[in-house]
Amino acid sequence: MTVHFHEEDLPAGVLADGPVAVDTETMGLVTRRDRLCVVQISDGGPDEHLVRFNPGSSYDAPNLKAVLADPNRIKLYHFARFDLAAIEYYLGVMAAPVFCTKIASKLVRTYTDRHGLKNLVDELLGESISKQQQSSDWGGPVLSDAQRDYAASDVRFLHRMRDELILRLEREGRMEMAQACFDFLPTRSRLDIAGWEDRDIFSHE
Ligand code: MN
Repeated sequence: MTVHFHEEDLPAGVLADGPVAVDTETMGLVTRRDRLCVVQISDGGPDEHLVRFNPGSSYDAPNLKAVLADPNRIKLYHFARFDLAAIEYYLGVMAAPVFCTKIASKLVRTYTDRHGLKNLVDELLGESISKQQQSSDWGGPVLSDAQRDYAASDVRFLHRMRDELILRLEREGRMEMAQACFDFLPTRSRLDIAGWEDRDIFSHE
């Protein structure tokens, strides 16, 4: 189990075929203001890859973009809406098709309102992760060991969680509805960037 650290792009050929788990770390929650600092990616094997971008980066990352834009690779996220927006805004690619563990959780774990990554990893897999570095400074030239471990742990469990969530979605007859939600997520992210981030366009008001 190794966390590989890269600057400005992923090396070619480091990922196995199939779905990849993806997460991003940014300077904050306002995509247009808060630059993309780190993209984490895992093919479900024992290693995770972190790609760090410098201030003023051109975000010219052909290997990473090729993986993210590949229509034959499902991208697994926890709260895809945010990551899709950051990736499209800074890297210029729509990183779909999508499986979002938070959406899946909301559709099957209707007995709770706790849909954070930590809650899911705990309940579905019986593992524990720390969210201590969540609101740390991702913009500096050096990432601490704690930050690297945290960033990697955000993609480490998504493949296994997807398997479990698919079982539950199928059991409850909600797989089709979940898939339709996943398919809409690129548009939901584009609405965020375009100014509808706080408006539910489906509501009556
Ligand atoms: Mn994260």
